Amino acid sequence: MLIIKKINQLNAHITKLKQEGKYIGFVPTMGALHAGHISLINYSKEENQITVCSIFVNPTQFNDPNDFKKYPITIAADIEKLESAGCDILFLPDVEEMYPNQNFNSEKIDFGFIGNTLEGEKRPGHYDGVAQVVEKLVLAVVPHKMYMGQKDYQQVLIVEKMLENRKIPVEVIMCPILREADGLAMSSRNVRLDAISRANALALSQTLYQCKSAYEAKMLDNSFVSNCIKELEKMGIGVEYMEIRAQHTLLPVTNFLEKDLIILIAANVGGVRLIDNMIL
Ligand code: AMP
Repeated sequence: MLIIKKINQLNAHITKLKQEGKYIGFVPTMGALHAGHISLINYSKEENQITVCSIFVNPTQFNDPNDFKKYPITIAADIEKLESAGCDILFLPDVEEMYPNQNFNSEKIDFGFIGNTLEGEKRPGHYDGVAQVVEKLVLAVVPHKMYMGQKDYQQVLIVEKMLENRKIPVEVIMCPILREADGLAMSSRNVRLDAISRANALALSQTLYQCKSAYEAKMLDNSFVSNCIKELEKMGIGVEYMEIRAQHTLLPVTNFLEKDLIILIAANVGGVRLIDNMIL
């Protein structure tokens, strides 16, 4: 696997590969790689001759400076995992390469409701940072397709809007959420859960599965959802939101019998903020 740290070197290399007719798939990450990330690499390898992964812990998307400081960094292990997965190129820029002279400003995009609700509401500025860094990364790689996880569902919608707004013709492929054997959505943040919180965290995916079963039985309603939230809170889980929304717009819905719904949850479990979701 080639490790490239500079944008101009990456650009030149990719241009050459494209001249040879190669299709380029791109998987942006913040490292601390787990099987969920590697599943994205595998999807990209199925559809492209060259797979590029980036690892960059982007300072501008952390609304909480403590979360940024505590973000796990496991670069040697990440490189090993990418090599065994058969990733072709790792783009590993530093902050100066992505934000020369500490210039963290860039023109913001108005994402409307999708940018201001759920994660956008709870983490002000988060999606501005995500859109900013993904635009820079996509312009550095210029892939044909990029692969993102449904785990960060709202982020996928934001990135699609950013690409549309900036007129960057890259197709986004949303890949399914990889879960631990017991159902917990894989996340780089899971390593910060102590034993008790790890056991409690399981309740998040279990609740989503319960809601999905209730939806399929046409029994999902507001009181079902508020009971679920109460049960989680009894366990000491701080639910930031658990909402049923329209899949494509994220608009609130009143009738939970409709099609194309998604349930999304964010919760604090033992001091670790976790998110999960399920398409209904
Ligand atoms: P991150 O390193 O957390 O920024 O994640 C990089 C990419 O991996 C994003 O597109 C995430 O949605 C995706 N991802 C994270 N966790 C999972 C998972 N459990 N299953 C599938 N994709 C994931």
